[in-house]
Amino acid sequence: MELGAMEANGREAGRRPELAQVIIDIPHRDLDRVFHYRIPEALAGEVEPGREVWVAFHGKLTRGWVLGLEVATAELEKAFALQPVEAVNGSYRLGHDLLALVPWLARETLGTMADVLRLMAPPGPPVRPAAWVLLAAKPDQEAIAFWEGIDPECADLLRRLSRASQRRMKYASLTGKGGGVPPAVIDRLSDAGLVTVRRLLPKLGERATPERAREKALKTASNPASKPTSITNSNVQPPLFPEPALTPDQKQAVHYLTEALYAARRGNDSRPFLLHGVTGSGKTEVYIRAIREALARGRQALLLVPEIALTPQTERRLRERFGSKVALLHSGLADAARRQEWQRVHRGEADLVVGARSAVFAPLPRLGLIIVDEEHEPSYQQDNDLKYHAREAAMERARHCGAVVVLGSATPALETYEQALSGRFRLLQLRQRPAGGQLPPVDVIDMRDELAAGNKGMLSRYLLEAVEERLRRRQQVILYLNRRGFSTFVICRECGTVVTCPRCSISLVYHRHGEQLHCHYCNFRQDVPETCPHCRSRAIRYFGAGTQRIEEELRARFPGVPVLRMDRDVAEREGIAPVLDAFGRGEAPILVGTQMIAKGLDFPRVTLVGVLAADASLHISDFRAAERTFQLLSQVAGRAGRAREPGQVVLQTYCPEHYCLQAVQLHDYEGFFRREIELRQQLGYPPFARLARVLFSGPEEPLVRVAADTWAEILRHQAGTVTIGGSSGLEEPEGLDVWGPAPAPVAKVENRFRWLLTLRAKGDGMKALRSALIAAEGEYSRRRGRPAGVTISLMLNP
Ligand code: ADP
Ligand code: ZN
Ligand code: ZN
Repeated sequence: MELGAMEANGREAGRRPELAQVIIDIPHRDLDRVFHYRIPEALAGEVEPGREVWVAFHGKLTRGWVLGLEVATAELEKAFALQPVEAVNGSYRLGHDLLALVPWLARETLGTMADVLRLMAPPGPPVRPAAWVLLAAKPDQEAIAFWEGIDPECADLLRRLSRASQRRMKYASLTGKGGGVPPAVIDRLSDAGLVTVRRLLPKLGERATPERAREKALKTASNPASKPTSITNSNVQPPLFPEPALTPDQKQAVHYLTEALYAARRGNDSRPFLLHGVTGSGKTEVYIRAIREALARGRQALLLVPEIALTPQTERRLRERFGSKVALLHSGLADAARRQEWQRVHRGEADLVVGARSAVFAPLPRLGLIIVDEEHEPSYQQDNDLKYHAREAAMERARHCGAVVVLGSATPALETYEQALSGRFRLLQLRQRPAGGQLPPVDVIDMRDELAAGNKGMLSRYLLEAVEERLRRRQQVILYLNRRGFSTFVICRECGTVVTCPRCSISLVYHRHGEQLHCHYCNFRQDVPETCPHCRSRAIRYFGAGTQRIEEELRARFPGVPVLRMDRDVAEREGIAPVLDAFGRGEAPILVGTQMIAKGLDFPRVTLVGVLAADASLHISDFRAAERTFQLLSQVAGRAGRAREPGQVVLQTYCPEHYCLQAVQLHDYEGFFRREIELRQQLGYPPFARLARVLFSGPEEPLVRVAADTWAEILRHQAGTVTIGGSSGLEEPEGLDVWGPAPAPVAKVENRFRWLLTLRAKGDGMKALRSALIAAEGEYSRRRGRPAGVTISLMLNP
């Protein structure tokens, strides 16, 4: 009993052993709390906060993470028969800033701490510890009989040990294939003195890696002959490429960011920055300078981008400036490569990490600057598993590591700009494009006039003429079909009226089944009207058409002119890149596509961009419809002006007077913001309220409906009888609105029916929403248990 003896000595010396607070890697909300484990002497000093450990949990060797350590109290030890930590994974340790994020993110997302930790762990499947080896003691028949009576598992183990010792083997390996003895069993035998346990492989992977990295860094720094590192020396890194002289706006932005990088260390003003500037105004250049300043101070930088595959140019620019210090974290890499890159970052060998959403958890040990490029992009919101928003997580992480945060966008999210105007974020603006680049003129074409003139096609006469002119000049054209929310709403072709919900001011969506219009927030329904409710015209119709039809119209009008097409069908068949490459090589003068090409619009020979159905995304069933449309169209319009030749943008729409389209035409973010924020306030949508969403899905619609109806009833009951939130008596008590259930915007996915409940709390009602949802979840499982066939997923801030 060498192990036990040592522990006893420790106690005699008056030193209480420390306990590890462990979060177990198990997908169960009820078990999502700290469990205490004893730290055996052999692992003392290695079980630290942030370490991955393996422990016995319900008799199974299970992964967990150490959230913290605490000194054992007599009560704790008495209350629980504490089990030991079995093994420590020495190959990584999560930093304190990431650990601090764990409970916060679990709360924000209604997820579990284990969900969060799983995201922070190295990519790929967990590495299990190697085998245990037992040194057999003296199991005799008597002992076996004794154990047999109470514990079959132990008896079996002893029988095998006994056989082993009869064969004069000194030890028996009892884990691995066919072994699989639960550590708890081994412990019981050991406690009874029947076996002596020696854990020959208590540690996993590479040991003491951070130390080794530090040593290495110090060695390089003290050796003048080696490559200079940015860790200790700020002036030795000359730019590899000539850099443009900054514009006054850029200079100012860099100045403020540099100042903040100093201040952040002293714990001064830590408000995030919003860098607002149109596409091509030089935001990336500002990022680059700020990154360099951070590195010069021995800190590291993290650049989040919406989609890594779409940023090859940015990547090239960063590699030019920062060389091998750049690490790219993205899901496109194979598992092994991702793990390697992750470990490189963890060892502190990459000073700049570029990645999409999940890179917000990159294990950078000296993080000093976090940039969220295109911060308004919906792809920062994780939709399945843990529903976190990378921008929010970035800001919270920055608070814990003293990093400066920069959110960059040409069209900031409404919430973000609101924060900037209210002073909670610091606003930096780039008002012009450097080198006199101009934003292209935007022409808005009223498609109602086309109908009046007898043109029933998808392309207006104006746009066709503009295309023809480009063909004559041997330039290129992109025709972009806005397909978001396509074909599902009902519009009057004469006056442009779209049928909306009388209760929610959200466009009604056409469902073929039952020939009815539905509201996806409150489930209001009505028949498809035969005449326009506004002008009584009979020209009311479902809005629908595809890229193929545009292609046909073009071929009819311009016979013999090659046309490339890019939509989901083509993407699945051929992939996106080959088509875009062919277009880039000039194999066709015209490219027709859906939003898939909105982000790849960087072709110098393109001088005309036509947007068909510019207003389609205005009518999707979402309170952010106008905001998303503005962002999408501004992006398309901003890109067109990149060509050397002056560009032109043509927007075709049925509602040219809509404030969103007018703002796009004028490149007027401010104007759009003012109108939209006013509407949000009037209608009680975020940022003036908080929403939550409960999504029910399953293969059998009646079951899905029952679940959704039960939840709705529970939530309505709560909202009716309990005042949720606002307990101080000074504030207005905050009510909770429950809408639905209603079919989800995409009502069926892979043969699973989807229904939605939407909750609204006025004001900053996050707490109210959270507690209502958790209470409802409890009540629902009390009533119905866990009914098979229905998946329920909760989301705050959808
Ligand atoms: P954004 O990130 O806002 O789209 P970029 O930083 O990519 O803008 O800049 C757009 C283009 O302008 C790039 O080709 C960049 O090299 C160039 N550029 C940026 N800043 C300057 C400057 N101060 N002087 C000249 N060119 C610049
Ligand atoms: Zn009408
Ligand atoms: Zn409604």
